[in-house]
Amino acid sequence: MASPIIATAGLAAIGTLLRSSARLAREQWLSPEKLAARRRTRLRQMLARAAGTAYYEAAFRAAGLHDPGAIELHELERLPFLDRHTIAQHGLDAFLTAGRDGLVNVFTSGSTGMPGRFVRSRIEEADYSARWWRVYAAYGCSVRDAQINVATVGKPDRAGPISMLRKIGVLPRVERLASDAPLEQVLERVRELHPPILTGYAGAIEALADHVLATEARIQPPRAVFCTAMEVTDRCLELAEKAFQAPAVDVYVTNEFGVIAWSCPTRRELLHVNDDSFVVEVVGTDGRLVPPGTLGELVVTSLGLTSMPLIRYRMGDMAARVPERCECGRGLGLLTRVHGRTAHAIRRPSGALITTPVITSLIGRAQAYEWVYQFQVREEPGRRLRFLVDARRPPSELQRRELTRTIESALGQDFQIAVEIVAEIQAAPSGKLQFLVPLAG
Ligand SMILES: [Zn+2]
Repeated sequence: MASPIIATAGLAAIGTLLRSSARLAREQWLSPEKLAARRRTRLRQMLARAAGTAYYEAAFRAAGLHDPGAIELHELERLPFLDRHTIAQHGLDAFLTAGRDGLVNVFTSGSTGMPGRFVRSRIEEADYSARWWRVYAAYGCSVRDAQINVATVGKPDRAGPISMLRKIGVLPRVERLASDAPLEQVLERVRELHPPILTGYAGAIEALADHVLATEARIQPPRAVFCTAMEVTDRCLELAEKAFQAPAVDVYVTNEFGVIAWSCPTRRELLHVNDDSFVVEVVGTDGRLVPPGTLGELVVTSLGLTSMPLIRYRMGDMAARVPERCECGRGLGLLTRVHGRTAHAIRRPSGALITTPVITSLIGRAQAYEWVYQFQVREEPGRRLRFLVDARRPPSELQRRELTRTIESALGQDFQIAVEIVAEIQAAPSGKLQFLVPLAG
C-alpha cells in the first residue's frame, strides 16, 4: 500500500501539473516583453535558491555576483558553463539545495559522451509533463489520447504524476515499442491502436514511415507525429507527413530539461523556445554570445529546477536564434531547427562546420533519397570522408556517380570523397544513429 506521505506528494504533484499546464497554456501568448519580465523574476528566485549549494555559492562569489536575487538577465553571462564533467567532478551533493529524500533519479545516456545523473522532485517532474501537454495541445492532442512511443523500451517508468495517473488507469497507457523492433510489428500495433499521438526517436519514425510508404500500408492518420531524441532531419519530417498524413513535429527534448523547443504549428520550419521555463543562450566557439541569426552552441538555464539547479548547461547542440516575432501570435522566441551536436560536426580546414543538414541537402540535391536508406559520414585521417550508405536497393552506376559528383562539388576541395554501399549502419548502443563521425580528437 502506498504510504500516506507518498500519496500526499502525488496529489501535490497532480495539483502542480494542472496549475503548470494552465499557466503554460496562457503564457505562450504573452508578449516577448512580458515573458522577459517573468523570466527575470524566475531567474532571480532560482538563483537565490541555488546560492545555498556549495557549487553555486562558490561560482557566484568567483563571478562577483553578491546578490544573485537581484541579477539582470544579461549578467547571467558572468557565470561559468556547466556540463556533466563538472557535475561529476564536484559530486551531485554540491548541486542540491536540500537532501535527496523524495527526489527522483534521472539518468541520461552516454551515447554522446559521458552518461549523466540528475535528480529532481515530483513537483518538478510535473512541470516536465506540462510542457509536453503544451506541445500536444498546439497540435490538437490531449493527454487523454492514446499514444504509441517508438523509442527505448525497458527504461524505468517516470515517477511523475502523469505516470501515476496512467498506472491507475485514469489516463491511457503509453504503448512503448522498441526502436529496433521489426517494422511490421510496430506497424501492426499502430493499426490496432490507431493512436492520435505517434511519437518516437526520429530515426525510428523515419524507418516506420519509410516502411508504410514502401508497403503502401493503409493506416488511420494520427493527429500528429512527434519526432524526438536525435537530429530530426527534413527528410524524417517529410516522410512522416507523407506516410501518416499528419503534421510531423520536431520536438527538441532532453532528459535533463524535458521539452526545450518545438515546431510552431504555423511556421513548421522553426521551433518555439519555451522562453517562460528556460533562458536559452547561443554561444560561439569562444564561449561568448553570438548575435541572433548566427549558428552556435545552445546553453540552457532552467528557471523551474530548484532541487538541483542547472545553470548555463552546455547542450553540445547547435542552432541559431531567429530574431522575429512569430505570426502565430505566440510571444515565445524562435529557434532554427537543431543542427546536431557540435561534437558530431566535421570541421573544414577553414573551421567551418559540416553539419547533418548540409549532408541531407546534398543527398536531396542528388535526388538520391530514392535509393539511400540510411547514411553515415566518417572522417578519416588524411582529409578523407567515407560516405557509408545503407541502400534500399542497389543504385545504378549513374545514380551513384551523381551522388559522388554532388558531394564532391560541395566538399571536394577540402576532402577526398568515397561513397560506399554497406549492408548495415550500426546504431549507437542507445539505439540512435550518429550521422556524422568526425575524426577523434
Ligand atoms: Zn509560432
